[in-house]
Parts: sequence; C-alpha cells; structure tokens
Amino acid sequence: MITFAPGPSKVYDSLPKYFQEAFEKGILSANHRSAVFMSLYQETETLMKEKLHVPEGYKLLFTSSATENWEIITQSLVQSASYHIFSGSFGKKWYDYAQYIEPLTIAHKIEAEDTVDVESLSIGDEIDVIAITQNETSNATQVSNQIIAAIANKYPEKMIAVDTTSSMGGIKLDFGIADVWYASVQKCFGLPAGLGILLLSPKAISKVKEKGEKGRYNSLSFMLENAENYQTHYTPNVLGIYLLYRVLQDIPEIQHIDNKIRTRMRTLEDTIAHTSKLRMLIQNPDARSSTVLAISGREEFITEIKKEAEKNGMQLGSGYGPLKPTSFRIANFPAVNEEEFEKLIRFLKKY
Ligand SMILES: *Cc1c(COP(=O)(O)O)cnc(C)c1O
Repeated sequence: MITFAPGPSKVYDSLPKYFQEAFEKGILSANHRSAVFMSLYQETETLMKEKLHVPEGYKLLFTSSATENWEIITQSLVQSASYHIFSGSFGKKWYDYAQYIEPLTIAHKIEAEDTVDVESLSIGDEIDVIAITQNETSNATQVSNQIIAAIANKYPEKMIAVDTTSSMGGIKLDFGIADVWYASVQKCFGLPAGLGILLLSPKAISKVKEKGEKGRYNSLSFMLENAENYQTHYTPNVLGIYLLYRVLQDIPEIQHIDNKIRTRMRTLEDTIAHTSKLRMLIQNPDARSSTVLAISGREEFITEIKKEAEKNGMQLGSGYGPLKPTSFRIANFPAVNEEEFEKLIRFLKKY
C-alpha cells in the first residue's frame, strides 16, 4: 500500500539501509556530549545549508516537533507580541498556543483562496514578530517567497517566523528573508515522526540573548548555548538526527527537488482538469500549495474514489477537519517516487 497522506507520510525507500547503518556504526549508543555526536550534529547542519541553501550564520536546532516550536517561539523570542497571518487550522493552532502564553497576540485570518494583501497590512509597534504559516497543510494553500519578502521589506524592524512544516525540503525557500524557520521530519523529509527542526538567523539569535528568557527545559538561550558546541541540552533523538543526516546526504540540491515537485503538481492539475467529477480544492493558483494538493468532489464520489484507490494499493490522504467528506489530499512529497506518482495519475485519469 502506498500512502499519499500528508504526514505522517511515505518514508524514503532507503530507510532500511539507513537504520542498519545507524545500528552498525554504534551511533545509537553515542553520548550526546561525545565527539561522534558533535560531528553528526555539525555535519547535519552543514548539509542542511548546502542542500536547502540556508545562509551561513543560521543555526540549526533540534526540537521534538513543530508544535513544540510554536511554544518555544513565543516563550523565548517574542518580546511584546506576535501577529499571526493564516488561513487554516495549523496557523490557527499556532496562534492559539502563542495567545495562551501572550494574551496580546493578534490573529489575522485570510480566506483560503486569497493571498496576503501586503499593501493593506497594518501592523502596529506593539508587535515584534510576524508569524506566517507558509504551507497550510489543512487547506492546501501556500504563501510565496515573494509575499514573505514583501512583508519582511515592509517591516524591516520586526522579526519574521515561518511555519514550513510541510514544505521545507520540498520547495525552494528564501531563508535569508526571514529569521525563524521550522519544520518536522515526517513531511517533506520523508522520515518517521519525532524530530522537529528549528533554524534561527543571526538576528533571531541576538534577540534570544536580548530577551534572556531562561530556566525552562526548552528555553532557546539554553539550547543555543549547547548548540554552540554542537551538543544538545538533553539526550536527543539520535536516530532521528542520523536519519535526517543520511537523507540530506542523498537528496539532490533543493532547486532540483523543487522542479520535480512543481512538474508533478502541474501533471496532477492537468489530470484533475480533465476529470468530470473532481476539481482542485483551491481555485486560485497563487494561493495553492505545491507540496500538499487537495482535490474536492461530491461526498459520495469522494467516498467511492478513496475505496477504489485502496483496492488499487493506494491510500489517498483524507481532507482535513470539515473538508474531510468532500475532499482528499495528496502529499506531493519528495519521498513519493515517480513510479508511485505515475500510478496515481493513471488511476485519476480513469475518472
Ligand atoms: C504537521 C504540521 C504541524 C505539526 O507538526 P508536529 O510535528 O505534529 O508538531 C504544524 N504546522 C504545519 C503546517 C503542519 O503541517
């Protein structure tokens, strides 16, 4: 059975080999203050910068999940309050976590079909961090690099934090335009869940020091202190880190992955345009995600096509929340190989 669910999602086919290697190398029993671990951390950071084009000076931190990052950002980085721009459930959840810690947090909800109208944005001086859900997994929308850049240019004194949980590793992101980027490995990195990624710019690192929040197990100041020596503040998910390191070693540079993802997206859009009973959930191509593709149809038909797909060895991802009965989602993630994607396209062409 191939799963097209957008997280946890299909893992890379090379995983058994990586597991075996991790075991044989003895890395799984390595102490997190040892030279072996420190070099694994350092090499993972270097590979991340090389393969995803992350600027020099950015720091890679390991957390448990994207959800943990939501909390860490407000706790350790936000000085006054953050301003959250989102259209769907994950963006709303981030806002909720932030608002729980800082009641002055502001929500700016947009419609799924709309792109952010940067010109009319009006964000006050009481806000020091702008939070953007770049790829909204729930409704299959995305915010482009250009829009993030325009927001950053309009508010150069504020910090920009970006949720790229279901896009980092799948599309080219302009890391230089924002200060905080995060993800989880069970989406575009094609790995089992249990590891969060947090990237901080030099400006974000200074801000953490300025705020000086400390004392919690996941206070950023504490994490950064340890990260300076490529260590972690607690015994980390070494297996997860090793798998990330191996995936980063084996994948091509991000522009090639980005190309593949966009080509496949166009193929799927074409296929859907030729069906009679299905359409892309998001009609505005400027708002549509390239890594999470949502397709909608009448309820009875969605039930039927999901069943039919299962009979053919494919599990379509369910729609999220209220969209569940009338849509399905396809993870257009790099770990899904060409053969599998073609099989899906052949299946959809029958409709
Ligand atoms: C999956 C997802 C999350 C949550 O990730 P966890 O690893 O489960 O914490 C957050 N934001 C977005 C956009 C997601 O797709």
